[in-house]
Amino acid sequence: MAGAAERAVDLGALTWPEAETAAAAAVLAVPVGSTEQHGPHLPLATDTEIATALARRLAAARPDVVVAPAVAYGSSGEHAGFPGTLSIGQHALEIVIVELVRSADAFAGVAVVSAHGGNDRPLRRAALRLAGEGRAVRVWSPPAPDPTDSHAGRVETSVMLALGPGAVRTGRAEAGPCRPLAEILPRLQRCGVAAVSPNGVLGDPAGASPEEGREILDRWAADLLAVLDGWP
Ligand SMILES: [Zn+2]
Repeated sequence: MAGAAERAVDLGALTWPEAETAAAAAVLAVPVGSTEQHGPHLPLATDTEIATALARRLAAARPDVVVAPAVAYGSSGEHAGFPGTLSIGQHALEIVIVELVRSADAFAGVAVVSAHGGNDRPLRRAALRLAGEGRAVRVWSPPAPDPTDSHAGRVETSVMLALGPGAVRTGRAEAGPCRPLAEILPRLQRCGVAAVSPNGVLGDPAGASPEEGREILDRWAADLLAVLDGWP
């Protein structure tokens, strides 16, 4: 599958006449990630890399999909206080997606592939607005995570090991609180992640492996493919 993903067509590599030829029959997949702390062991680009990998897998499985350059900033206000986290906030993200999709009218449809839960609400609002304008747009994000492993834990660490083991500082991996998200959510929403997890992790990366990461990626990619089956 990793080899197949290399066959994905990247919009940024096309000329405009090539894009013109492809667009009318193509779905534009826009990866949306974040630049956000992922504990002491995962890079700030984790969500962006996961979103891009999933969009490329979609394109490898569907020759009518073209992958746009990723939106590398999202709504990450809850991770403020961890140096390196850059957030454009919910409102700006919503507007960015509305304008970006409006500018993609040459394509048959736009599939927004997000890998950061904090982006969900503004992306849903953008999609509603765009659908109201008669545009073909879908927003997808990975199925809800294990509530005791919601950020930089075993799932994301495994996926990043599968995508490129060099990016994971395995020796720096450590657990954060493993209580169900619903229990810590009120304080997290009020005071941010740092108040409930000083190292930024919600879950435990122990046991993560590239094999598990490949299984998770295959599962998510299959879900994305199924959700967009026959669309637009
Ligand atoms: Zn993440």
